[in-house]
Amino acid sequence: MNMKALTSPPITEAVTELKGVAVSLFAQLANGRLPGAGITRDTYGAGETRGHDVVVNYARQLGLEIAKDAAANTYMTLPGRNRDAPKIIVGSHLDSVPNGGNYDGAAGVVAGLLAVSVFKKLGIRPACDITVMAIRAEESIWFQVSYIGSRAALGMLPIGALDAKRFDTGRPLSAYVAECGGDPRAIEKGIAALDPKKIRSFIELHIEQAPTLVEAGQPIAVGTCIPGNFRYPHIRIHGRHDHVGMPRRFRHDAVAAGSELISAMDRLWAERDARGISMAITVGRCMTDPSAHGLTIVPGKLELSLDVRAYDPLELASLEADIVEVAKQVEERYRVRIEFGTRAEAPIGPCSPKICDGLADAAAKLGIAFDRIVSPASHDAAAFAQAGVPIGMIFVRNENGSHNPQEHMEITDLLDGTAVMAEWLRKELS
Ligand SMILES: [Zn+2]
Repeated sequence: MNMKALTSPPITEAVTELKGVAVSLFAQLANGRLPGAGITRDTYGAGETRGHDVVVNYARQLGLEIAKDAAANTYMTLPGRNRDAPKIIVGSHLDSVPNGGNYDGAAGVVAGLLAVSVFKKLGIRPACDITVMAIRAEESIWFQVSYIGSRAALGMLPIGALDAKRFDTGRPLSAYVAECGGDPRAIEKGIAALDPKKIRSFIELHIEQAPTLVEAGQPIAVGTCIPGNFRYPHIRIHGRHDHVGMPRRFRHDAVAAGSELISAMDRLWAERDARGISMAITVGRCMTDPSAHGLTIVPGKLELSLDVRAYDPLELASLEADIVEVAKQVEERYRVRIEFGTRAEAPIGPCSPKICDGLADAAAKLGIAFDRIVSPASHDAAAFAQAGVPIGMIFVRNENGSHNPQEHMEITDLLDGTAVMAEWLRKELS
C-alpha cells in the first residue's frame, strides 16, 4: 500500500503535477510502433533515434543544455551553482529489444527529466550539474555486446566491439554509430566523454523485470546490486545425423545431449536456489539445423545460447566450472562434442550503500512504501560502477516482466520513484 504523508511535501506535489507530461512523453515514445507487435526502438536505428528526439524536445522546453558524444548518447544538463564540481548523472537507455515494451529503459530517462523539471518548478538551483543521460545501445540482442553506449562514454568499450554485426542486418556497429552522428574512430581510440572522477554518482530508475514488487504490493524498491554475468551466445553440440531407426547405443544425438545439458544446468540452479543464492541460468535460443533436421532424422547438430548471472564473483566462477564439468559428462554419455564458442562477460555492479540508505531515507520521508531488492537484470549503472562511480538504482513495479509487448507500469508508480529520486537529489544538492 502506498502510504502518503498527510500533508504532501512540495516535491510530492510538484511530481504529481507532472503526471500529464509523463503520459505524453510515453505516448510520443510509443509513436511509430508496429501494429500489435509491441515497441521496437532498434539500437542505433530509426526507433532509438526517434526516442532521443522525443526526450531532447522536452529537455529544450525545460531549457536544459543538450550535448551528444562520440557514441551518440544524449546529455541534458541542468547547470549547478558550481559548474566545476563533479556532477550527478541520472538516466537509462532508450533502445528496446525487438517487439518489446515502452518502459524498459525509457522510464529512467523520463524520470530523470521529470526530477530535473521539479527542480525548475521549485526554483532549486543544485550545488552541481545534474545531467540526464539518454544512453544508446544497452540491449545486447542487437549487436551481442552489452552496455555499448555507457561503456563507450566511459572509454571502456572492448577493442573489436565496433566490428560487431547487427543481428538483423549483418552491418557493423561502426557504420550505425556514424549514421547516428557519432564518431566510431574516437570510440576506437578509447576517448572518453565522461571522466569517472568528475561524476559524483550515477542514479538509474528502471522498471523491475521480475514480479517481486507486484507480489509484495510495493510501488518501488531501492536496488542493492546488479548481477554480473558470463554468456556463451553460440554453444554448438556436434553429434551425428542418423536414421531414426538407429539403436540408442549407436547414436550421437545432439538434441538428447542438449536437453541433458539444460536439465543438468537447471539442477545446478535448483541446488543453489534451495540455499538462497540469487542467480539465474537462461538458454534463450536452442535450435537444430533447419537444413538437416527432420521428423525421421536423429539430430546431429544443436546450437544454444547461455546467459548465467549472479551477484557474487566467486559464485559466477564456481557456476562456470560446474557447467564445464557437466558438459564433459554429457559429451561422454551422449558421444557428442560440445563447443562453447565465444564468451562474453559483464561485471557485477554493487550499488553504493550510502546511496541506498539515502534513497531509502527519501522514500521514508515522502511516505512511499519500498523494499530493498537485487536487480534481476543487467543495467548501464553496472558500467558506471565498474568505472568506480558510486551508483544507485530505483526499481518501479511492473507487471508481466519486460522485453515483451505486455510489459506494464502504472504512471503513479513511476511518479513515486521519480519523487524519491528528486527528494534524494534535493537533499544531496541543496
Ligand atoms: Zn533496460
